[in-house]
Amino acid sequence: MKTRTKAVVIGGGIAGCSALYHLTQEGWSDVVLVERDELTSGTTWHSAAQVTNFGMNQTMVGLKSHSIGLYKKLSEDPAYPINYHHGDGGIRLANTPAQMQGYRHFTSMARGMGVEFEVIDAAECARRHPLISTTNLLGGLWDPLDGDIDPAQLCQALAYHARQAGAEVYRNTPVTGLTQHRDDTWTVETSKGKIDCDIVINACGYRVNEVAAMMGVQHPVASMEHQYFLTEDIAAIAEAGHRMPLLRCPISDYYCRQEKGGLLVGFYEQDCKTWGMDGIDPNFVNALCPDDLERVMDVLEGAFERMPALQETGIRSIVNGPITYTIDGAPLVGPIPGKRNAYCIIGLRAGLGEGGGHGWLLAQQIVHGEAEYDTWCIDPRRFGPHANVELTALKAIEDYQNEFRFHFPHEHRPAGRNARTTSLTPVMAAEGAEFTVINGWERVDYIKPSVDFQPSLSFDFDETFDLVGAEVKNVQENVGLTEVNGFNRLEITGANAADFLDRMFCGRIPRKAGRAGLGYLLNHHGRIKGEATLANLPASDRGPARIWYGSAAASELHDTDWLQAHIGVGEDVQIKSLSNDQTSLVLAGPKARAVLSACARGDWSAQGFPWLSVRESHIGYAPVTVLGVSFSGELAYEIHVPNASLYAAYLALREAGKAHGLKLFGARAVDSMRMEKGFLHWKADLLTEFDPFETGLERFVKMDKGDFIGKAALQARSATGIRKRLVTLEINCTRSPAHPGASLMQGGEVIGTVTSGDWGHRVGKNLAYAFVDPALAAPGQQMVLDACGVPTAAEVIATCVYDPGFSRMRA
Ligand SMILES: Cc1cc2nc3c(=O)[nH]c(=O)nc-3n(C[C@H](O)[C@H](O)[C@H](O)COP(=O)(O)OP(=O)(O)OC[C@H]3O[C@@H](n4cnc5c(N)ncnc54)[C@H](O)[C@@H]3O)c2cc1C
Repeated sequence: MKTRTKAVVIGGGIAGCSALYHLTQEGWSDVVLVERDELTSGTTWHSAAQVTNFGMNQTMVGLKSHSIGLYKKLSEDPAYPINYHHGDGGIRLANTPAQMQGYRHFTSMARGMGVEFEVIDAAECARRHPLISTTNLLGGLWDPLDGDIDPAQLCQALAYHARQAGAEVYRNTPVTGLTQHRDDTWTVETSKGKIDCDIVINACGYRVNEVAAMMGVQHPVASMEHQYFLTEDIAAIAEAGHRMPLLRCPISDYYCRQEKGGLLVGFYEQDCKTWGMDGIDPNFVNALCPDDLERVMDVLEGAFERMPALQETGIRSIVNGPITYTIDGAPLVGPIPGKRNAYCIIGLRAGLGEGGGHGWLLAQQIVHGEAEYDTWCIDPRRFGPHANVELTALKAIEDYQNEFRFHFPHEHRPAGRNARTTSLTPVMAAEGAEFTVINGWERVDYIKPSVDFQPSLSFDFDETFDLVGAEVKNVQENVGLTEVNGFNRLEITGANAADFLDRMFCGRIPRKAGRAGLGYLLNHHGRIKGEATLANLPASDRGPARIWYGSAAASELHDTDWLQAHIGVGEDVQIKSLSNDQTSLVLAGPKARAVLSACARGDWSAQGFPWLSVRESHIGYAPVTVLGVSFSGELAYEIHVPNASLYAAYLALREAGKAHGLKLFGARAVDSMRMEKGFLHWKADLLTEFDPFETGLERFVKMDKGDFIGKAALQARSATGIRKRLVTLEINCTRSPAHPGASLMQGGEVIGTVTSGDWGHRVGKNLAYAFVDPALAAPGQQMVLDACGVPTAAEVIATCVYDPGFSRMRA
């Protein structure tokens, strides 16, 4: 066994084998996999191993396409053949028009990734799958490349090809300890000796937290028991003369595929069970949980009704095994938060279909620092510290119960709500607030007209449309107040703080005390890594001179890790998080100044406190830090308050606002207004796939300043031009917004992809942002939006359609 290597992958299921294989494909041959037992002896060996192309966003579709392409290539390799039923096709069933509309959106989205789904009616479903009845069926989504693979053969093939490229695999070698050294390298202790390495990768399936504990962390991963059965042969299958397509049913929560001459039917029952919450028997190896068909009776009935042939067919065997889930159902693939040189590929609930793609994107991140696609949807840092195993278990149960029911826009399911709140949450609720969830935080979405108001789940504009319009109108004409809780706030101090930030940002940073500014952080490829507002605060009775760094709530762990990792040796820079100590209130509208002046002493005039200023002050007696910044396009103040004083500041603002028509507004109104201003959202419009020029942020890039991360890459690319361009579109439709991922077409070709869409209430336009081919980025260019299957005219318009001179913000 080697005693020194570059990277050690821990765990030999599909996750570990794929990671190992792809590290070798990305150019690293000095890599090792250690497995406590035999390869695939965790969950992988008994997987139903369906391999679908369907995903909820373009990254998921793209990584699944990679799996499918890779598995096909491997299966055709005579050196190591695999049983892969490629392209049997699969149907996701639907019995409501809303589900069908959702499928049409996912079809539009996948088209941008070169994947052609088809939405078919009930009769066509039955034509393609001769065993099903069309009772209570509207139709479905057809995935032509759906199939299934032999999981053990697949892993052996990946390991074989990795070995051919120089990797080594040590079986029956449990990892027993992990030690990180001062230079960030690791020692991996195993039952057979120690291996020193630069990088460790946790791919331990349901034992993920046994290994995580060895490095002092805990991952938000919980396991569920999951069952399928295999039937005796069915005559109708043999008679059909072709393999049965796969089925996935959100009506009765089961899936079904052909297995030899019969069927394999798997269930997601409501009465489901977590597994291993109190520890896992060390001898649970190549093992299954006890059968329990009683538990799945609720969903079994639905499957029997859909496929009457099942009623006359015997069950050959039952499989019940542990399957891992995370808080939002998507895996954790990437850097481990708070750690250096440590990665994970865990929480895979559909690891056979996705594993090829996850290993690929992980290896790219490890070897190149970033993957081909933006990987935020699978990034382990996307949850805050609230994401513990208890909360994960609740969300896992909910996700399991809804396995094939996709989330609609604005849908937040009930489990684990109130994970992160402030003292204002119950106050806002009493005022009628409905909440959205951002990184666990309950944030005001809009104010309900009545307690039982419940908008429909739909891809169309819903019943909140006029409510949001009224909130926007009050912000535009008077003044609105909202709480932006969870906002990521870092305090950066030290003699080198400003120089450090100058190196991290591609534009100028506010070096003058009392000034604030928006800026962008790039990665080493010159693509967008982050967005933050910097505010330069002078020394005061609250502390020494310091710079505040404010960014999206979800960026908490991501940004902290990125900044910490780049503090140079000997640099005097300290970073302290205030995210959980302070909350921000936003006061916006032309009367915002009058409200602020009525409850905070000092000169708040345009001359005394111009746009992009920052000042410590008091609202009443609550200590606050006020920033003159605006995401709404109106005169606005971001008011940061220590949590202990939040309610006092709120009451003082409400009291002062009475004379000026102050009303509450929520995140939906903010979203509408920011679309009219050309303001972007991190990880919706700001992606690691594009650079600042492609994203239309050239005014924030100062190539003439000193060195900054990403500058060399931008310089190297300066001759090649941009690949895509972010534009604003007006959509000729009043029925529905453009949804992220939707395709833009011209002449039957996909020429762009929507990143955000919403109604602009102040301009009365349906607006969208999209990356399009640069040749089509000029205002006036016409294209067609595939809006949930409805071809809809779209036109490129100016980026900022409301107050383009920015006079209202600066008033
Ligand atoms: C009944 C069932 C049906 C399923 N059907 C499908 C399906 O149709 N399609 C699909 O895509 N997915 C399906 N899945 C999910 C899929 O099987 C899993 O997502 C996948 O197998 C997980 O692979 P993994 O590598 O993450 O974990 P595992 O396969 O559990 O591998 C983890 C490995 O880590 C090793 N390990 C643990 N601790 C240590 C240690 N200390 N030192 C060294 N090694 C260690 C283990 O021995 C194990 O081999 C199904 C799951 C179940 C239970």
